Amino acid sequence: DEAQISRQFILRYDFALEDKYLRRLSIITELKNTLTHAQHELNLFYQPKLNLKTGKVESVEALIRWTNAKLGFVSPEDFIATAEHAGFIELVTQWVIERAIKDAATFQDSKLTLTIAINLSARDVMNTKLLSLIKQKLAEYQLDSTSVSFEITEGDLVKDHQKAIEHLKAFQASGFSIAIDDFGTGYSSMAYLQSLPVNTLKVDKSFVLNLDTQVGDQQIVKTVISLAHAFELTVVAEGIENLPTLQLLAQWGCEWAQGYYICKPAPAEQLIKWCHENKNTQWLT
Ligand code: C2E
Ligand code: MG
Ligand code: MG
Ligand code: MG
Repeated sequence: DEAQISRQFILRYDFALEDKYLRRLSIITELKNTLTHAQHELNLFYQPKLNLKTGKVESVEALIRWTNAKLGFVSPEDFIATAEHAGFIELVTQWVIERAIKDAATFQDSKLTLTIAINLSARDVMNTKLLSLIKQKLAEYQLDSTSVSFEITEGDLVKDHQKAIEHLKAFQASGFSIAIDDFGTGYSSMAYLQSLPVNTLKVDKSFVLNLDTQVGDQQIVKTVISLAHAFELTVVAEGIENLPTLQLLAQWGCEWAQGYYICKPAPAEQLIKWCHENKNTQWLT
């Protein structure tokens, strides 16, 4: 009867699920408010990418940070996916692009030649207005297409494959370099890889974090590097936390290295200081 059903419902009610749902709701509400009325709660951090062929830092990845008045610090792992699902990721991306290009001009004024790698979600790739915004902002600061590059997570690109290809081609035709982020965790097949207009594979950090001791990870990463090279793509490894890992990657011909061992993500001002201090650092010894 009804009483029994409701007792069963009460017994089975999942409070953890409700917490998760409520948190997602408050992230949506607060993030929308931040984007429209409190953009000072947002910041971009930058993490260096070391070119293993030249031994120099030639690029940095832009990573968004959000500290909200009510929710405190919220990880991008949490709010990026939420903004994607709730349908307003383009507002986040627009903020990121404007700030990143402004900072690119600051880096140049500080005598640093750095390409800023910007993370995009698949939705962003499909947004035709985005490419014009990027070009317009670059022109505003008199920067060229090598000032920025883009990273897109592979799984997201599979859904509307044909369209994704067209849009990525438009990015490349404008001179921007494209990387597939978190490579190895999605569903990519050889055919898919061959058809995608991208320049770089970024090996997911889960294969790199313990690379120095895990033989299985070593086999995967070596295979990804030869696969990439067979397709004439370059490779970035993220999540390098120690010197032996960096040395192995250099030995295997990986082109780019990124991780806490080299430098943690930092605000623009700190990054500029770090770059000047580390101009002559010998990373591989
Ligand atoms: P991602 O693009 O794959 O970025 C790499 C993540 O690994 C970053 O986490 C970075 O701080 C972290 N990381 C870098 N080196 C190391 C290391 O040596 N060890 C460990 N344990 N971690 C390392 P973060 O900043 O929390 O960002 C998480 C994810 O959120 C990013 O993964 C990206 O998918 C997304 N994200 C961040 N900023 C943006 C953004 O501006 N736009 C979009 N669409 N997504 C973003
Ligand atoms: Mg990335
Ligand atoms: Mg990644
Ligand atoms: Mg990621």
